[in-house]
Amino acid sequence: MTIQHQILQKIKEYKTIIIHRHVNPDPDALGSQVGLQKLLQLNFPEKTVKATGYDEPSLTWLAQMDDVSDQDYENSLVIVCDTANTARIDDKRYPNGSFLIKIDHHPNDDVYGDLAWVDTNSSSTCELISLFALDNHLKMDAYIAKLLYAGITSDTGRFLYPATTARTLQVASQLREYPFDFATLARKMDSFSYKVAKLQGYVYDHLELDENGAARVIITQDLLKAHQLTDAETADIVATPGRIEDVKLWGIFVEQESGHFRVRLRSKFIPINEVAKNHHGGGHPLASGANSYTLEENEEIFQELKELAKKQRK
Ligand code: AMP
Repeated sequence: MTIQHQILQKIKEYKTIIIHRHVNPDPDALGSQVGLQKLLQLNFPEKTVKATGYDEPSLTWLAQMDDVSDQDYENSLVIVCDTANTARIDDKRYPNGSFLIKIDHHPNDDVYGDLAWVDTNSSSTCELISLFALDNHLKMDAYIAKLLYAGITSDTGRFLYPATTARTLQVASQLREYPFDFATLARKMDSFSYKVAKLQGYVYDHLELDENGAARVIITQDLLKAHQLTDAETADIVATPGRIEDVKLWGIFVEQESGHFRVRLRSKFIPINEVAKNHHGGGHPLASGANSYTLEENEEIFQELKELAKKQRK
C-alpha cells in the first residue's frame, strides 16, 4: 500500500482530524494546512476537521484558524503539514491525538509521527496535498485550489526556484482549472505595502556583499519599529538580495523582540542548510533558517557563508 493510501485509510478511520503547521507560517504552511482541511471537509462532511495555530495577521486574507479545544484531541487523528521538526510545530498539543501523521517536503532530519510522507523533491507541501487530492480523485473546489496554488507559487518564488519541476507545473495547471480569481491572487502575492517598499530600499542600500557573492543585511528592532514593521512582514524582502546578479548566497538577520536574531538563509545554488544546522536551525539546501544569540554568532554565520561562496569559486 502506498503512503498516500495509508494516509487516506487513517483519515477514513477517524471522526475528528486536527491539522497543524509550523510557526511563522508562510503561504505553503497555511495553504497545505487549510487546503487539506477544506479538502477533507468537502469529501468527508460527516467528520470534524479543524485547523489549529495562531492567526498570522499578514496572511489572514488567505486562511484563518479554528478554535480547537483540548477535548477535540480525544481519539483524534493529528496531521502536521510542512513542518520538519517538532520544535517548530505550532500548537504544542500535537501529541495529544491518537495517531500522528507528518506531511512535508523538507529534509527529514527530525523523524516524528506514526506515519510520515516526506518528499524532498516536491516544490512545496501544497504540491503534495494537491497530488493527494488528484491521485485519489477527491472532490476539490475553487477555494481549495486557490489555497494550494498560493502555497506552490509562494514556495517556488512564482515558479522561479530550481525546486519547480514538470510535476509542479502539471499540478499548478490542474489547480488553475478551478475558477478562483487568479489575477487578484497573483497581484496580491506580487505586491507589498508602502512601508515594506521602504524596507526593500534599505536592503539594497545596506547590503554587505563580498567579492565571492556572499551577502547579508541586518534588520534591527529599531529599524522595524521605525518602519512600523513586524517580523512576519520581513518575508517580503527575503528574496530581494537574490535579484542582484553578483549575489550567490545571503542571510537576512532579523533582530527579534527577545534580542536574538532570526537568520533567514537563501542561496542560488550552493547548499547553505549546514550553516543553518550549525546555528539552531535547518531547512532546505537553498532556503533555510537559523537563530543567532550573540553579535559574535552573527559574524560567525556570515563568515561561514563567505567561506562557502569562496570554496565554490575555487
Ligand atoms: P524562513 O527563512 O523562515 O522562510 O525558512 C526557510 C526554510 O527553512 C523553511 O523551509 C523552514 O522550514 C526552514 N527553517 C527556518 N527556520 C528553521 C529552524 N529554526 N529550524 C529548522 N528549519 C527551519
